[in-house]
Amino acid sequence: MEKILLSPGPVALSPAVREQLGRHMTHHRSKEIKQALSRLQSSFQKIFKTKEHIYILNSSGTGAMEAALTNTLSPKDEVLVISAGKFGQRWKELALAYKLTPHEIKAPWGEAVNVSEVKEKLKSHPQIKAVLVQACETSTAVNHPIKELASLTKNLSQTLLIVDAISALMMMDLDMDDYGIDILIGGSQKSFALPTGMSFLSLSKKAQEFQKTSSLPVYYFDLTKELKSNQKGETAFSANVSFIRALDASLQEYLKQGFSEIRKKAKTLAQATEEFSKHLNLKLFSSAPSLTVTAISMPENIDGNQVKKFMEEQNIIVGGGQDILRGKIVRFGHIGHIQFKDYATALNVFGKALQKQQPEIYTEELLKTAQKKTEEILNK
Ligand SMILES: *Cc1c(COP(=O)(O)O)cnc(C)c1O
Repeated sequence: MEKILLSPGPVALSPAVREQLGRHMTHHRSKEIKQALSRLQSSFQKIFKTKEHIYILNSSGTGAMEAALTNTLSPKDEVLVISAGKFGQRWKELALAYKLTPHEIKAPWGEAVNVSEVKEKLKSHPQIKAVLVQACETSTAVNHPIKELASLTKNLSQTLLIVDAISALMMMDLDMDDYGIDILIGGSQKSFALPTGMSFLSLSKKAQEFQKTSSLPVYYFDLTKELKSNQKGETAFSANVSFIRALDASLQEYLKQGFSEIRKKAKTLAQATEEFSKHLNLKLFSSAPSLTVTAISMPENIDGNQVKKFMEEQNIIVGGGQDILRGKIVRFGHIGHIQFKDYATALNVFGKALQKQQPEIYTEELLKTAQKKTEEILNK
């Protein structure tokens, strides 16, 4: 039986993607793939809102995060990590792994970073070479204020803004050129509705200047070498032919519908989740909620892990809390190929899971009205 996958990555594959993934193999230097790569450039430039080149890497999202650092920075460079969840921590770990010198601004999990704190830090530490941040901190369902952060670094020629938008691309306004984002990063297993295994990034003119003097070691993720191959319509190493076809098909589909449609759908799912939670007197965890994923705080007497387990037994996969949030939140993703009727089912089963632990609070009657409200939103 097919499961209803509502985690914020990996996500349910679209039929077009599945079809492409099952096709025969072809050589990566074939005409078909050259043409697909060229279409991908222009599709991606529309998503990133940039005129710059888009690099397509064979790796999960973290590979592109690594490439962003290793292609622009040098050992001991000072960087500013914005840390407000699991993925913020990853920036710090990466920076330490490459012997960079990280400063850190922490925001409580569930909250977005305070822009004036970043402004002060950059003022008192002008030697900081890059600010590392998530657009959506998927672990807490928080969006950081990227446009405002970009306005701080835009006119600083010595400081880059590097944005992990792996779960935020297409779900958030991230106009790379207009905002002045220096490196924007995406991954295949989130809004693009592919399996995990491909990542994307683009470098602003400022980041390209950094590239010239960067001395961190690179080999597989050498973007200079990659660009040379890309300019010939090829990739530096063997390309993932199946993924290129699937991505090309899915982006063509999004382009046809208009990119705003996919965000509109996520918005409806987020609203339905919020409405359902409100009726059950549950609070959203994030104070700056994303469209990618909604995190619902579990009340004192409810164990989120048991909720997740109960749902899994009914073939519904949602995200739980990681680290200090284990058992404390349940996360519903709004990306990938989600059917509204499956989503309604998932919310109802979620209600049942709460009822199992606290039947006197989550009564049949309460669940019924919550269900009715959300179905009104989903059926609109
Ligand atoms: C999913 C995700 C990643 C990527 O992690 P991988 O496991 O390497 O694909 C990175 N950052 C954010 C914010 C994510 O949501």
